[in-house]
Amino acid sequence: MELVTTHTHTCFTNHGEGTVGELVAAAAAAGVSTIAVTEHYPLSDAFDPVRYVSMGAERVGEYLAAVEAARAAHPEIEVIVGCELDWLGDDEDRDLSHEDFSSFQVVLGSVHFVDHWPFDDPAQRDRWDEVGVDAIWRRYFEVWCEAVSSDAPFTIMAHPDLVKKFGFMPSFDPQPLYEQAAEACAAAGRMVEVNTSGLQYACKEMFPAPALLAAFCRAGVPCTVGTDAHAPEHVARGIEQAYRLMAQAGYRTVTVPTADGGRREVTIE
Ligand SMILES: [Zn+2]
Ligand SMILES: [Zn+2]
Repeated sequence: MELVTTHTHTCFTNHGEGTVGELVAAAAAAGVSTIAVTEHYPLSDAFDPVRYVSMGAERVGEYLAAVEAARAAHPEIEVIVGCELDWLGDDEDRDLSHEDFSSFQVVLGSVHFVDHWPFDDPAQRDRWDEVGVDAIWRRYFEVWCEAVSSDAPFTIMAHPDLVKKFGFMPSFDPQPLYEQAAEACAAAGRMVEVNTSGLQYACKEMFPAPALLAAFCRAGVPCTVGTDAHAPEHVARGIEQAYRLMAQAGYRTVTVPTADGGRREVTIE
């Protein structure tokens, strides 16, 4: 079946590799039919002082032009322009409006920060010991449900259980948190993704966990697949495995955003 990835990164941030052109060329070569290029949306200096995790605000125009050029160069593949937008909750310090996102057909909604702390940053891991795993898990899902229920322009909620990245699992059964997340996402009418990059981290499984993915399926939340590639060679990594995970969770189709802002369904074979 066709391969899709709706979550990818480039050298527009200081932690990604490869130009937009190289990324899209690699996707086309790997047989991908739809790719969304979703660079990290600019953060303030307070959150990203050295411009490591996000794209500089002054580069957004250049980024949009690069995606447009890649689309023109590769008519054999659908290229969607997107971005990955951090949910900062009460700590939001940017003056964002919906117009800022009118050029993006896909906006990934991500929770990388809980109470100003980038909990998935290896350099700031010590705080896990200070706060405690159980408390962080509860707070993460509380913030995630706030994000999904907000009026932020998110189309797809990215890596829904990113909190497990380091493999720190709670002492309690997270199922009630999963049910809350699924209900909130269904009520908001947003999509989720299976993010294949989880396999590369200490948690050793894709995001979301099978039980959370099944809860999304039962709630009727549409699901797509993103590789979260930060280098062209990883653009198609794990896509077919993600489809199998979706099928095991009960999904019969993969929902794929389209460049005109719509969605299409691809049957999982
Ligand atoms: Zn992310
Ligand atoms: Zn990402």
